[in-house]
Amino acid sequence: MNIIGFEKSVGRERYRIAQIKKAVFCDLIDDWQEATTLPNELRKKLQENFSLQINAKIFRSQDGKTTKAKIKLADGSAIETVLMQSSKKRNTVCVSSQVGCALGCLFCATGRMGFRRNLSPDEIVEQVIFFARELKKEGERITNIVFMGMGEPFLNYENVIESIRILNDADGFNLGARHFSISTVGILEGIEKLKKEKLDINLAISLHAPDNGLRSKLIPINKKYPIEKVIKAVDSYIKEKKRKVMFEYILIKDVNDSDEQAASVARLMKKHLYHVNLIAYNQTGNYFPSPINRRKKFRNILMRAGVSATERFRFGLDLDGACGQLAGRTHCT
Ligand code: SAH
Ligand code: SF4
Repeated sequence: MNIIGFEKSVGRERYRIAQIKKAVFCDLIDDWQEATTLPNELRKKLQENFSLQINAKIFRSQDGKTTKAKIKLADGSAIETVLMQSSKKRNTVCVSSQVGCALGCLFCATGRMGFRRNLSPDEIVEQVIFFARELKKEGERITNIVFMGMGEPFLNYENVIESIRILNDADGFNLGARHFSISTVGILEGIEKLKKEKLDINLAISLHAPDNGLRSKLIPINKKYPIEKVIKAVDSYIKEKKRKVMFEYILIKDVNDSDEQAASVARLMKKHLYHVNLIAYNQTGNYFPSPINRRKKFRNILMRAGVSATERFRFGLDLDGACGQLAGRTHCT
């Protein structure tokens, strides 16, 4: 799919832009001939210059709640996008922002792939439109978009924000800003920029360790963006936006899940508008997930210390569609 810049082919009749946006983002057409509000000549012109095709393969989890799409891009690169459907009519799409990731976090399958390139706004939007078209067949729609797929969104800041603007546009897809979340490892420049944006989207920070020693081991970029600097940037963000910030914490067996570490996390996180989301580790390499009783104990320590904390439900384990498992495995080709 490549539709960025279609406005230029429209000419002087500006109302056509709204008609095209409605056809592509609301009616979710996959062929310009279906845009029956447009004159034939314009449809032909659009067809020649802007593709609506999305080249994807779909994989469903056994419980039917998670669907993974492997999308092939024009240059042959493949990216993965995941749809998570919860019973409360919540349809969340987890999108990728890069092909691979340069940051090489030790626990993450994407990190092990290395970095190929940034995705364009079109390529980010396409992931959402793919699942919007699928859901439309069931009479449903996307309710949330999270940038928690492959890549570090703040290392592709402009394209990520542009894709959000397109999907937020009231004439088009019209998904409210509060339904978008960006997860970052703590790129300070990104947090600073987001603070100044008019868009009120949600910010999530991947914490995963309470001290710089361990965090630098798990997330090598922590040496450049250590915990205290990330927290300072988040505090300034909260002061400006007055919005809750979520801290993600994967529980890895015998690495970051002890009672002492829980107490240290509690000391860091006991702040106004801070929220901790505990995530069961999806095994991808040498680490193992914390057992359930450990996860419960960890959460209890946080709650007793007065920290707002929840545990995230795991989706799509049987198809490698869960967080950090997106790495273009061979069984998807
Ligand atoms: N690069 C960004 C966003 C993509 S990763 C970031 O790191 O925040 C999205 C989330 O999945 C992050 O919180 C990341 O730490 C987490 N994650 C990575 N590998 C995981 C794994 N194997 N199991 C569970 N969560 C994982
Ligand atoms: Fe990149 Fe995020 Fe994976 Fe780290 S956890 S390697 S930042 S995608």
